[in-house]
Amino acid sequence: MVGGCCVCSDERGWAENPLVYCDGHGCNVAVHQACYGIVQVPTGPWFCRKCESQERAARVRCELCPHKDGALKRTDNGGWAHVVCALYVPEVQFANVISMEPIVLQYVPHERFNKTCYLCEEQGRESKAATGACMTCNRHGCRQAFHVTCAQMAGLLCEEQGCEIDNVKYCGYCKYHFNKVKKCRHSANTAYDQGLSDSSSHSQDKQSSLYDKQRKGNFEIGNDGNTGPESYMCEEQNDHQCPMSLYLTLMLPETREEK
Ligand SMILES: [Zn+2]
Ligand SMILES: [Zn+2]
Ligand SMILES: [Zn+2]
Ligand SMILES: [Zn+2]
Ligand SMILES: [Zn+2]
Repeated sequence: MVGGCCVCSDERGWAENPLVYCDGHGCNVAVHQACYGIVQVPTGPWFCRKCESQERAARVRCELCPHKDGALKRTDNGGWAHVVCALYVPEVQFANVISMEPIVLQYVPHERFNKTCYLCEEQGRESKAATGACMTCNRHGCRQAFHVTCAQMAGLLCEEQGCEIDNVKYCGYCKYHFNKVKKCRHSANTAYDQGLSDSSSHSQDKQSSLYDKQRKGNFEIGNDGNTGPESYMCEEQNDHQCPMSLYLTLMLPETREEK
């Protein structure tokens, strides 16, 4: 459903954080070691949790979205959820932040499950729109809600610098606000912008993403991403100092492809 890593969409791999492919029959899951919490990459075949389990394919569905493909893990209530859904729905936690499992859903407020995905509706999937839970546009005041995986497929997910330099904030925008944010990135950072995918712009945080998960594990419950201290926005600081562009400028000169 997405190129490259099922979680971050980046197609690159690094020696210390390789892209690992599932050897399950008919499974096309690819994940970075750190994106899926693979503590040790085996020398032989590797199987994603779904292929490893003997569960019938029909029963393996994400509790947070209507999409079946992708990199899933067990939830604490015996179901399944995408790792990407777990990362981008703010209240979701990982019981173990290193192995990133099981996915803990108990802190997700009910209202997230009552929202409908505007991307599903836009694409005529009305029957799916109310399935699972929704994240909301990171633009302060915007009420658009959508499934994490719908946003991922539309290229609307971002990793932005949080309050501290090593803190990555997982967020997404509706199409309208995403384009505004992208413009901001472009204006400040045209030289390095080419060839980068929208949802994953810098290798640096992929290499340190185990730490990001720890941040996520400590995430304050109830912070919707719209209200917390970290909710400053790229767009609002437009034209002078976009934090994302600043981050890219700082990080990217060291970026090397190591395939
Ligand atoms: Zn990844
Ligand atoms: Zn698999
Ligand atoms: Zn999902
Ligand atoms: Zn959707
Ligand atoms: Zn919006």
